[in-house]
Amino acid sequence: MERLYPRFIILHHTAGHDVSALEIDRYHAGRGFGVIVAEPPSLVEDYVERGFERVEGGVVVRIGYHYLIRADGSVEKGRPDFVQGAHCSAQGMNFKSIGIALTGNFDSIDNPYGQKGHTKPTGAQIAALKKLLFYLMDIYQIPQSRIIKHRDVAGAATSCPGDRFSL
Ligand SMILES: [Zn+2]
Repeated sequence: MERLYPRFIILHHTAGHDVSALEIDRYHAGRGFGVIVAEPPSLVEDYVERGFERVEGGVVVRIGYHYLIRADGSVEKGRPDFVQGAHCSAQGMNFKSIGIALTGNFDSIDNPYGQKGHTKPTGAQIAALKKLLFYLMDIYQIPQSRIIKHRDVAGAATSCPGDRFSL
């Protein structure tokens, strides 16, 4: 299936500690998914410089999200927008959405005391998320009604991004 023009934005938490996109990429290495980004060459070099693995024909990007928002509000690029994600298989969303994840675990049952990461989004994360959403809504003409929490996608059996997440 081809990557379709993004018409939705799906919101996630990583369900874990505040780590970089590259660390998540390495964590996903054993799980077999990933896409090879072959062009443009300058983009390939950007990924390689960041530490992503160069392979025959380009660079492999395994992290499933398109954007990762760290606790301090910095936004790290995951997959390029123009390739499919690996963040929400329900409703074919990997092919028609942009996936954004905030680091942390905002589920009060799974992470009551913060042992699995910070328990609610930081102010800096929410501020950065709003800015990123406005940007993506504008460039892809995505209405607010199509910004969806992972758990609200029909058929997605998950509590992601947790009950302590709210915009
Ligand atoms: Zn999720």
